[in-house]
Amino acid sequence: MITRILRKVFGRGRAPATPRILPLEQHGITRDRISPCALRVCRTLREAGYAAFVVGGAVRDMLLGRTPKDFDVATDATPDEIRALIRRSRIIGRRFRIVHVYCGGETIEVTTFRASNPQGEEDDAERVTAEDGMILRDNVFGTHAEDAARRDFTVNALYYDPERQEIWDWHGGVEDAKRRVLRMIGDPATRYKEDPVRMLRAARFAAKLDFHIDPATRAPIPQLAHLLARIPAARLFDEMMKLLLSGHAERGVRQLRAEGLHHGVLPMLDTILDDPARQAFLHAALHDTDERVRHGQSASPAFMLAGLLWFDMRALWRAHQEAGEPALAALHAAMEETLERQRERLAFPRRFDGMIKEIWQLQPRFESRSGARPYRLLAHPRYRAGYDFLLIRARGGDAPQELADWWTRFQDADEATRAAMLLPAGAEGPRKRRRRKRRSRGAETPTAAAAQEQPHATAG
Ligand code: ATP
Ligand code: MG
Repeated sequence: MITRILRKVFGRGRAPATPRILPLEQHGITRDRISPCALRVCRTLREAGYAAFVVGGAVRDMLLGRTPKDFDVATDATPDEIRALIRRSRIIGRRFRIVHVYCGGETIEVTTFRASNPQGEEDDAERVTAEDGMILRDNVFGTHAEDAARRDFTVNALYYDPERQEIWDWHGGVEDAKRRVLRMIGDPATRYKEDPVRMLRAARFAAKLDFHIDPATRAPIPQLAHLLARIPAARLFDEMMKLLLSGHAERGVRQLRAEGLHHGVLPMLDTILDDPARQAFLHAALHDTDERVRHGQSASPAFMLAGLLWFDMRALWRAHQEAGEPALAALHAAMEETLERQRERLAFPRRFDGMIKEIWQLQPRFESRSGARPYRLLAHPRYRAGYDFLLIRARGGDAPQELADWWTRFQDADEATRAAMLLPAGAEGPRKRRRRKRRSRGAETPTAAAAQEQPHATAG
């Protein structure tokens, strides 16, 4: 009882009563770095007598000289009070009600100061599922100190007051940012048990920020990694996608494996990261995605998953063929099996299956360069994704560079050039010989001929 009261008063024993307040001269972040929309939200709340701060990733990123992805605001106004003040806003979420404010294309997430969840479970502001009846937690509003204490890492518990241009630092986050250390607020093991996803977040932020994980924050992870099995698939998938599509996927997956967190989510990393050839492919695939993300282009989860699972699928395909199955049947069985096996770990939405399979199925078809086949392939709705995948394979040493170059030229060539580029029929050799020859070179892709005339799969 006494501890309960103490926790209530002191925010579970880990919230200091006052923050360290840094003036502009000490951090150099002027308010013009904040989006006009977030500024307006803070000003409106302030003028109505509430506290309002830019919080979380945005403050951290500005402090590190990065451009924030988005701006979140924390306030002591309740969702209804926020709604009443700001017209273009909407309350979302059931368990944790937060307010979305819209200006132009921008959305600002406004959250009321929250105390930690007394049940000691995860407390992710982004979660909106609430089927378990614990709506109680919805309104565990708290003080500013409690709000800081329930956040995960010290660098994520920084608040920026746009009016005074001050940073409020409750847990030494400014110092940690300077030293590039990721440090859990409170007792790390307790906080991971409350919400195991924080382990994945540790790996993600270490990779994204190029931070070192503080030894005490890192130490409990190997023993607690198994707790990830208890996290609902959809949340795990979201968190993994944040890691893979962050622009730092390559460092991210290495960090995952270094912390032993991959077993439950991406078990293939063991075989990939221990094999130089596969590593080269992974490097090509992730590097490519990272570059796309960094240049503001879209990156597709399906493409990423197709890459991560490629070797597993290919090995199974081959095993099925060696067991005597016809190539096409073997391919389909291997694809299904690969996706099912993966789903036992990190379940991803089935809507990606179609595209993943198409990318895979197209690969052997790139090997045929005579007759009408190349034209048919060009006309395939997923040609582009298949071609991009081929380029990555070539860069990773998994397909001949000459083949990728041929397609690069062929796709852009005029009709006469294309016709001249076609290999003579039969030049690609009879099926049996090709297969033997390819095997003797150690390549694993089952024959091109095998997958030649598959029906075009339906788009996913
Ligand atoms: P990013 O730039 O990658 O979005 P972020 O810090 O904004 O980084 P979010 O996942 O958007 O990360 O979360 C916003 C803030 O909410 C975090 O900075 C952190 O303070 C808090 N938070 C989010 N998830 C958790 C969690 N699982 N446990 C504790 N605090 C969390
Ligand atoms: Mg964020």
